[in-house]
Amino acid sequence: MNAATDAVTDALRDLHSRFAGIDDGELADYIPQLALVDPEAFGLALISMDGHRYGAGDAGVPFTIQSVSKPFVYALALSVLGIDEVSRWVNAEPSGEAFNAISLELGTGRPDNPMVNAGAILTTALIPDTPGAPRFGRILDCLSRFAGRMLDVDEQVYFSEVVAGDRNRALAYLIRSTGPLPVDPVAAVETYFRQCSVRVTAMDLAAMAATLANGGVNPLTGDTVVTEPVAVRVLAVMATCGMYDASGDWLLRVGLPAKSGVSGGLIAAGPARFGLASYSPLLDPTGTSVRGHRAIGALSERLGLHLMHNP
Ligand code: GLU
Repeated sequence: MNAATDAVTDALRDLHSRFAGIDDGELADYIPQLALVDPEAFGLALISMDGHRYGAGDAGVPFTIQSVSKPFVYALALSVLGIDEVSRWVNAEPSGEAFNAISLELGTGRPDNPMVNAGAILTTALIPDTPGAPRFGRILDCLSRFAGRMLDVDEQVYFSEVVAGDRNRALAYLIRSTGPLPVDPVAAVETYFRQCSVRVTAMDLAAMAATLANGGVNPLTGDTVVTEPVAVRVLAVMATCGMYDASGDWLLRVGLPAKSGVSGGLIAAGPARFGLASYSPLLDPTGTSVRGHRAIGALSERLGLHLMHNP
């Protein structure tokens, strides 16, 4: 271990013990299965560009990816269709609204961005579905390549999402009513629920974030998952839209492209430096992990990670 390695390990362990006692926040319960998880679970993970893994606490505990899937499926859509075609369907402007807002851009009817549910459902619907390569198979393969190992679906969470999913179905029908949904709304939402139910650990999420930070090349496997321009575009949209209606405040204080999800996962990426992830399922009112937000914010400050920082 060299000094830099020690510093990262020490920082993760310190922050883990500093924030493990915080029990503010609530479990997401609008998807019944998400309310059954251990509220105490708390893990931190970081992966560097040379593939070094650092972890503290429950970095290996599985949970469902939920909205942290959105940037990676957006990356897949950009890879398959190109930036211009994807932009025709979904914009890249911060919405300033909640993740599940029933809202589309005035005039065009496009979802505001691919990080809110409306945009994510549309992005999922853009992934081609062919007999040899079904839509969900492509998505699972892509998420797995970002993680560097084969991922699977938590079927119980998936069924729970299907039962509780009327708001997302309503969004899909609304998008179709304005013109732009390229597939059947029920099929689009079903695939979106499945994508949200993919099981990961904080260490997997750190690998996925590290792959974006590394220009699309997974630092653990050497696999080129997406091209550099796609990775850059995804990080830019994460920076402006990844934390929903708290995106501006997050960029101001923490200064890193990030994405949160309602199961308690949170990723942040330091371009050309690291991928970072946390897991703790107690959420603030915007749907972001309370401990994750605090821990990643403190790590950014401690290690000087803010992108606007002049080292
Ligand atoms: N499956 C969740 C939903 O669509 C994901 C939301 C989130 O993680 O922010 O409601």
